[in-house]
Amino acid sequence: MENKLTIYNTLTRKKEVFEPINPPHVGMYVCGPTVYGDAHLGHARSGINFDILFRYLKYLGYKVRYVRNITDVGHLENDADSGEDKIQKKARLDQLEPMEVVKYFTDRYHQNMDHLNNLHPSIEPTASGHIIEQIELVKKILENGYAYESEGSLYFDVEKYNHDFQYGKLSGRRIEELLQNTRELAGQEEKKNAFDFALWKKADPKHIMHWPSPWSEGYPGWHLECSAMGKKYLGETFDIHGGGMDLLFPHHESEIAQANAAMGHDPVKYWMHNNMITVNGQKMGKSLNNFITLNEFFTGRHSALDQAYKPMTIRFFILQAHYRSPLDFSTDALKAAEKGMHKLFEAYHLLENLKPSKTSSIEIKSFENKCFEAMNDDLNTPMVIAQLFELAKAINLVNSGRESLTQNDIEQAKALMKLFLFDLLGLKDEKQEDDSELIDYLMGTLLKIRQEAKEKKDYATADMIRNELAKLKIQIKDTKEGAKWSFL
Ligand code: ZN
Repeated sequence: MENKLTIYNTLTRKKEVFEPINPPHVGMYVCGPTVYGDAHLGHARSGINFDILFRYLKYLGYKVRYVRNITDVGHLENDADSGEDKIQKKARLDQLEPMEVVKYFTDRYHQNMDHLNNLHPSIEPTASGHIIEQIELVKKILENGYAYESEGSLYFDVEKYNHDFQYGKLSGRRIEELLQNTRELAGQEEKKNAFDFALWKKADPKHIMHWPSPWSEGYPGWHLECSAMGKKYLGETFDIHGGGMDLLFPHHESEIAQANAAMGHDPVKYWMHNNMITVNGQKMGKSLNNFITLNEFFTGRHSALDQAYKPMTIRFFILQAHYRSPLDFSTDALKAAEKGMHKLFEAYHLLENLKPSKTSSIEIKSFENKCFEAMNDDLNTPMVIAQLFELAKAINLVNSGRESLTQNDIEQAKALMKLFLFDLLGLKDEKQEDDSELIDYLMGTLLKIRQEAKEKKDYATADMIRNELAKLKIQIKDTKEGAKWSFL
């Protein structure tokens, strides 16, 4: 079987065999959050999707540099070129320094991603930490004639760019349509065309976050940071750029334009976009009371939730859909996901106690082949999960004596489930972890009682504790730092 990963490239609109530019190195850039509020299901989906890709690429033997940025300046309301900076607005409402808002929500975002068991990116740069690089990039675009200055701000000249390159090649939008569809927004008078986007904005007197530049005291446009940081950490052309589908236009489209305008070539070989999550068929929105943050899921504190949901339930729920398909959230779907996931964990634990036979009636290798085939087919996680369910069914049949497995095949099945469930899909058996926390706690208490008994020379009690634990195959060793316990 050929073990080749294929991924759907949004730019070419087809599945392509993944061939890195400079193997075994892979550069991967994912647009991270704008940190002015708590993360929601959309953040979870993007985080988990690119975590799966990161895990699988590493498994295939690539040396992956995974960059995911934090947007802490320049992202204005309504994703437009006018309006207040999202972080500054939150800071004004809460009477905080903008950087206090950034720190608070960055920490919470990290906690959420840890709970979801997403591996940490290799580099996590911030927009405000790369102002110099962004100014340098604007200078280059200006020098090459694709930007113009207006009232201290700099705008990207989309029409001129489109004449020499092609604006819209990622999203499939045509400049003529853009012209018809762009609304005339207040504060846009400075631009030649409504679809031109800001590279650098002059700060008005009320604007708190601003930096000096050759043109004005101001701040960078939203699309600029990813172009500047991608180039800095992954080079002028790198392998993979990803994000949610909502970032495809104008954010990623403009990144391509900025790179071509500055360097004369495309910045990225493969563009990958995950689809959105709807709630009971509706788009998530603050006004619809269906905007549920991850923290609200984990605690159950939201009027649309009937209970708390564990992070792994959310993860499994998201992986049950292909990343390019829309995914509709409901509490019923979440409960079904929880149940399904536990069936897989139970089958895995069942493997520990299966009685081996002399022959196998099930071919484990064919499950393995199908799991790899599914992963290689544009990260088809629902297909991987379907195969694992089939395997779980088979394990249950072996347990009830209707099918058989040799010791060797039992070990293979265990390795297969471990690889896919835990290492590649990144799931964790939280119940098992809860149990081990409880055991730690109870053992600590027992050892304390035993220590107190010994101090009172009540050796009968101390010995009884030791002997009862021995029956459970737990041994106690007295060391200089106190008593230690372990399983025999
Ligand atoms: Zn970005």
